[in-house]
Amino acid sequence: MPELPEVETIKNELLPHIVGRRVTSVTLFWEGLVRQPSVKEFYSRLIGQRLTGLTRRGKYLIFSLSSGEVLIIHLRMTGSLLLKPASAEVGKFIRAILHLDKETGLHFRDPRKFGVMWLVEDASIIVNKLGPEPLEAGFTPQVLAQRLANRTAPIKALLCDQPCIAGIGNMYADEALFAAGIHPLRLGGSLASEEVEHLHQAIQRVLWSAIGNKGASVDSYFRPDGALGTAHFQFQVAHRLGGKLCPLCGTPIERIVVRNRGTYFCPKCQPGP
Ligand SMILES: [Zn+2]
Repeated sequence: MPELPEVETIKNELLPHIVGRRVTSVTLFWEGLVRQPSVKEFYSRLIGQRLTGLTRRGKYLIFSLSSGEVLIIHLRMTGSLLLKPASAEVGKFIRAILHLDKETGLHFRDPRKFGVMWLVEDASIIVNKLGPEPLEAGFTPQVLAQRLANRTAPIKALLCDQPCIAGIGNMYADEALFAAGIHPLRLGGSLASEEVEHLHQAIQRVLWSAIGNKGASVDSYFRPDGALGTAHFQFQVAHRLGGKLCPLCGTPIERIVVRNRGTYFCPKCQPGP
């Protein structure tokens, strides 16, 4: 599933190609992609608009439009946005195409069809419940400590909880907890302030490193030009199936399920609660 580094990479790589482009038409092969407004209204309000900007909030992509409205896209489990020439064939699993002027098109590829698009007047309607952005200056160890204080959920679940902290999902939560030496089942409120500081540092380091490697292509994540990210080659524990050993101590990596999420950790480097 695309997380903050994947969505940030898509935003960075699309931005120079789409700002200033006009949406000349829209093709929906899967109308279920459009959550809001109606499909009919989606077409009429989007076609003819110019894309004036693109930002990311959590795992959401926010396209600003010349009308002042915003098109918001969440890629969910398996979505990718591919930038193609107008002459390109429609590939497998393409659920929508935004046809742009200058002979380009934005193809929404989504094998499992969980992706969502909204066209709304104000992005806050969709993203107002998100927690702080972990790479912004305002996200200090103190802010993380406040988010975790008195929480009785496992730290793994809290890191993946978008209202608690935005943008982190299964892969980067596992990587950050390993880097900080914290067991995924430790309760959020049980972390000592020194552990919170280590975790804060680990979150930022893991996310920046993954952005530098253009995201992780463990399943169906592609960059807009169709290339793969390489962040998963740096993974220490996440998705390390089949008796892989901890890179630090050589203990076999274990997999447990935390709130329905497959969770990888080293039982020695991340001692149990
Ligand atoms: Zn270890």
